[in-house]
Amino acid sequence: MKAVCWHGTNDVRLESVPDPKIINPRDAIVKITTTAICGSDLHIYDGYIPTMEKGDILGHEFMGEVVELGSAVKNIKVGDRVVVPFPISCGNCFFCQRDLWSLCDNSNPNAWMAEKIMGHSPSGIFGYSHMLGGYAGGQAEYVRVPFADVGLLKIPDGLADEQVVFLTDIFPTGYMAAENCDIQPGDIVAIWGCGPVGQFAIRSAYMLGAERVIAIDRVPERLKMAKDGKAEVLNFEEIDVGEALKEMTGGRGPDAVMDAVGMEAHGLGLEGLYDKAKQAVRLESDRPHVLRQAIVACRKGGTVSIPGVYGGFVDKMPMGAAMNKGLTFKMGQTHVHRYLRSLLEHIQNGDIDPSFVITHRLPLEQAPHGYEIFKHKQDNCIKVVLKP
Ligand code: NAD
Ligand code: ZN
Repeated sequence: MKAVCWHGTNDVRLESVPDPKIINPRDAIVKITTTAICGSDLHIYDGYIPTMEKGDILGHEFMGEVVELGSAVKNIKVGDRVVVPFPISCGNCFFCQRDLWSLCDNSNPNAWMAEKIMGHSPSGIFGYSHMLGGYAGGQAEYVRVPFADVGLLKIPDGLADEQVVFLTDIFPTGYMAAENCDIQPGDIVAIWGCGPVGQFAIRSAYMLGAERVIAIDRVPERLKMAKDGKAEVLNFEEIDVGEALKEMTGGRGPDAVMDAVGMEAHGLGLEGLYDKAKQAVRLESDRPHVLRQAIVACRKGGTVSIPGVYGGFVDKMPMGAAMNKGLTFKMGQTHVHRYLRSLLEHIQNGDIDPSFVITHRLPLEQAPHGYEIFKHKQDNCIKVVLKP
């Protein structure tokens, strides 16, 4: 089959690789019909995630048709159209039982690697390096899905791929990030980053009752899409974000702040921090630091929600401000399984059509081009879907 493979920093290639096979009775093989490139893939593309190996298949946002099932999967049939959550979760462990699916204890056979590098291990993730399980991703024609009896969401007829594919990640991610803001009637939520995650966070914050959402970015098309989602927008290259937020909230600050940017705002990640030999190396960055800005901007007693992905260390957090303002921090890889059914219902009810975020539809062969335009925000790119 054809698959999008990682070969190094800024180097992804379409290659011929062996078809995946059932290796466990709880596996399924899914023929991919739609897959997408995520901001999280850019951390790999940028070389920030160690434990990638040349030839690893990328992609954790995908859906398709079940073509083969292990003998233990009874709740799904061959021919079913399914969406696959990006965290791989067993459904039985301490964490899955507590609805903490992205922290599953049984889905990462390389947990020791993650523990060595990060001190802990989250769940396995499709297409996201060997320290997160070394699973082949879904930017491919076929994929093997472990724990298929737990993860697969069957999609009812009448919904197009593009309406449901983002249930794999960015819609639940934006939604959980908004839920983590603990929104009360009248609340003002400020969101840094108007990428795909930020866009879903804006809409989710309104769905959860926010009075006003203020969105921050510098890319005009992304700010425009945020505005279409009823956000008030700030261009961080044109104004002092902290001052503007103060002014817009009567001096008090937003009730909740959200970092939907992640480590790109520091220009550093695991590669820099661990310097390949994984020795801690301190780097400083002069780029605007989203998390610091957000902590300082948040009102007293407010909430800091962090869907943006971080790896390694982040220096010089204003912990004094956070502590003395009594802030609450909430963050994490999204517990996608928790939100699948309720968000599917929102889509079916017509509350939201997630396809609004798609700007590019490309054949799988053009994935390298897709990565380039998504990374550099060229050609008005906001979200790329790939069609194998
Ligand atoms: P993206 O790269 O398309 O979006 C990031 C946006 O942040 C860009 O529009 C960029 O212009 C903007 N930005 C950069 N510096 C900024 C600054 N100083 N202030 C304000 N905005 C700034 O990526 P995305 O797909 O939207 O993902 C966003 C983040 O969410 C990434 O870190 C990604 O890894 C993470 N993510 C997390 C989860 C999860 O489970 N928690 C899931 C998916 C994605
Ligand atoms: Zn993603």
